[in-house]
Amino acid sequence: MSSDAPSIFTRIIAREIPADIVFESESVLAFRDIAPQAPVHLLVVPKTATYRTVGELAAGDPALLAELVTTAQRLADEHSDGQYRLVFNTGEAAGQTVFHVHAHVLGGGLAEGTLGD
Ligand code: 5GP
Repeated sequence: MSSDAPSIFTRIIAREIPADIVFESESVLAFRDIAPQAPVHLLVVPKTATYRTVGELAAGDPALLAELVTTAQRLADEHSDGQYRLVFNTGEAAGQTVFHVHAHVLGGGLAEGTLGD
């Protein structure tokens, strides 16, 4: 569940920190990753800080998880011909650095036959 200090994403949602925002709804914000790992690298984030991981989100609010995924699809349609990789890192050992659940939308030219990078 939510941690003590506001995450960097909560601060972006509150407009305390600037970001290149590409989509906003009542419950979701999407913006460009500051350190892109692909030609298109967007982050789709629920506005609530309640959920740290995709597993928590799936258990606690499946409709919000579905909105995250449909938003990712729509953004990939707009930015990456509808072809993309959707990544939810879970846990430090898997590369999660921000414990406010978020989907990485990676596209615009990815290496063939790989799961990572
Ligand atoms: P994680 O490693 O938790 O799966 O993903 C966190 C992502 O947030 C990283 O890809 C990182 O580049 C991105 N990120 C961290 N700080 C900021 C920031 O201040 N602005 C933006 N736009 N992205 C950030």
